[in-house]
Amino acid sequence: MNLTDPIFTDANKARKHLEATRWPNGPICPHCGSVDDATQLKGKAHRPGVYQCNAKECREQFTATVGTVFERSKIALNKWLLAAYLMTSSKKGVSAHQLHRTLGVTYKTAWFMEHRLRAAMAEAFPTALGGEGKTVEADETVVGGKEKNKRLSKRNPKHIGAVGKSVAFTLVERNGRARSFHVANVSGSTLGPIIFKNVSRKSALMTDDAGQYRPIGQEFASHETVNHGIEEYVRGDAHSNTVEGFFSILKRGVIGIYHHVSEAHLHRYLAEFDFRYSNRIALGVNDEQRWDELLRGIGGKRLTYRRIGQAANA
Ligand SMILES: [Zn+2]
Repeated sequence: MNLTDPIFTDANKARKHLEATRWPNGPICPHCGSVDDATQLKGKAHRPGVYQCNAKECREQFTATVGTVFERSKIALNKWLLAAYLMTSSKKGVSAHQLHRTLGVTYKTAWFMEHRLRAAMAEAFPTALGGEGKTVEADETVVGGKEKNKRLSKRNPKHIGAVGKSVAFTLVERNGRARSFHVANVSGSTLGPIIFKNVSRKSALMTDDAGQYRPIGQEFASHETVNHGIEEYVRGDAHSNTVEGFFSILKRGVIGIYHHVSEAHLHRYLAEFDFRYSNRIALGVNDEQRWDELLRGIGGKRLTYRRIGQAANA
């Protein structure tokens, strides 16, 4: 996308773009779910983009932002679209400071916009990673921690309470998607349910050689381990280079762009890095398609200022 496109400067054009992206088959009423059965209200009495549902029992009015993370926002839609484009097209993310300067909104507004967009990046209906003939790598890392803290699984899982607050656990399907979790610890009883719920049992599972993965691995088509401790990084297909690559992008983003990620919001930052990774150019998704994907995801995830504030105080 060209950043001088009127979509990014004209709120009306931005609205039309959002409508076309969210409603390819005509307006969808968020109240009753009817498709292409609404009338756009014209005239000075209505702001542009208000529709009235024609369904007999409904007759409600709506716009393309009702029920989305953009709802009840005073920020012009063209700024939302630009923020969404910048966040989805920058490999390591965009800081709230940068967004504040680029969009001409306050820092606080930029910060809230980013968190709402991250909420929209979360998968609404996560399906299993992997499958027959596919490999899923699993690994964990401390986000924002020191290098020497990286290999958490080498420690007694019960002894990582102090650093456990910013531990990310990531599953990556080779040549596929990534899914990350903020975990309290890396014990088998924490990681097992996450792996079982998110990875197809028909997959080959690849982990480091920490003990907690052994019983979990028995449930999968195969389970291979990599021993990072003895510089044995690549042994044929037995490697964790894919998830390590994901962590390196995550860390460069967190350290270089965001500087500090509070534990209350870590899951949202992880959703952001997962989203870009799972919709990357190597999988055939270009910047514009990735942006469209985010705009299609803004529904059903309305995140109010109040709810973000509560998370910040938690
Ligand atoms: Zn309706």
